[in-house]
Amino acid sequence: MSLVQKIRKLASSSRFDVVCGSNWDVPIFQSGQMNNFPLLKLLLSNECNFDCKYCNNRCRNKSTSINPKKVAKLTNQLYTNNRICGLFLSSGVYSDPEDVMEDLIYTAKLSREQGFDGYIHLKAMPGCSKDQIERASIIADRLSINIEGPTRSHLSELCSVKDLKIDIERRQRWIDEQDVGQSTQFVVGALDETDKEIINKSVELYEKFDLNRVYFSGFKPLKDTPLESSSGVERHRVGRLYQSDWLLRVYKYQPKELLKITENGMLPNIDPKLEIAKKKRRINIKKASEKQLMRVPGIGPKTAKKIQDKKQEIQSLSDLKSMGVPEKTIPFIELDGEKQKRITDF
Ligand code: SF4
Repeated sequence: MSLVQKIRKLASSSRFDVVCGSNWDVPIFQSGQMNNFPLLKLLLSNECNFDCKYCNNRCRNKSTSINPKKVAKLTNQLYTNNRICGLFLSSGVYSDPEDVMEDLIYTAKLSREQGFDGYIHLKAMPGCSKDQIERASIIADRLSINIEGPTRSHLSELCSVKDLKIDIERRQRWIDEQDVGQSTQFVVGALDETDKEIINKSVELYEKFDLNRVYFSGFKPLKDTPLESSSGVERHRVGRLYQSDWLLRVYKYQPKELLKITENGMLPNIDPKLEIAKKKRRINIKKASEKQLMRVPGIGPKTAKKIQDKKQEIQSLSDLKSMGVPEKTIPFIELDGEKQKRITDF
């Protein structure tokens, strides 16, 4: 197998870790959080002794793997040619987790020694040591370990050898003690977990650890896995969870506001910001704080700031329109105590 074929295969095998869109010439992904931030994303090996039910690398003996030296060289070449800004490196657990973690650290270290000073995101292996987390955090910008399920029983149902408290949360605590970014990821829709359970667990993790992000990977049934005949996650579900996460992290909504709009534990298929606003009173544009303005559908942080800065000058709709306020916002606001049904009612 040629090096390019090998890299494509290992990139394809890394599909369970979410980063966003890809360019399959080489496995370069645009980071979802940082636009125009292309990452080389691949596994060191797709051989794995673990048995995650949704993954077709599970219990795989025949494998494709790549030498750390080749990864380091490729990373540096792509970086020098301005094709990537960073490296996202993970692996199947082809040996003792500590040995696999050692190979990941070695690969990242080699890349640095060869001059790569871009972003590095390393996966921490469940079962790696505290010393390895400490060493990895010196080389990498971000470490992550995937939580997969919101409860201990969900995780052990997904993977018989992973324990939520011991394998995942203990390592999350070790990462939290280092000067390095941290994220994690849920698999959504593989079992019967609810959005409510996922939101509650995310909130708990954000409170316990200084997490940069929680990611959501929508379950898709794959051939030759125990879940091959299950239904895949509904398309909207992952999107609604991301919107909820954004409201919690950036807009500082209270978890109970999101939980209140769930039905049978699931978020409705509607923008949660809109659904919450529908149950609240209109916001008086002139009296509202920046934080309150950001809660109005159609108004984001930039527009809220513009309105706040020029509050006294706002006399009419055209003033608001020039600040970027769209038509859909009208049912949720009032200006000087007057409610408007349409933009032209101002
Ligand atoms: S640890 Fe689980 S998800 Fe990761 S490669 Fe192995 S079987 Fe797949």
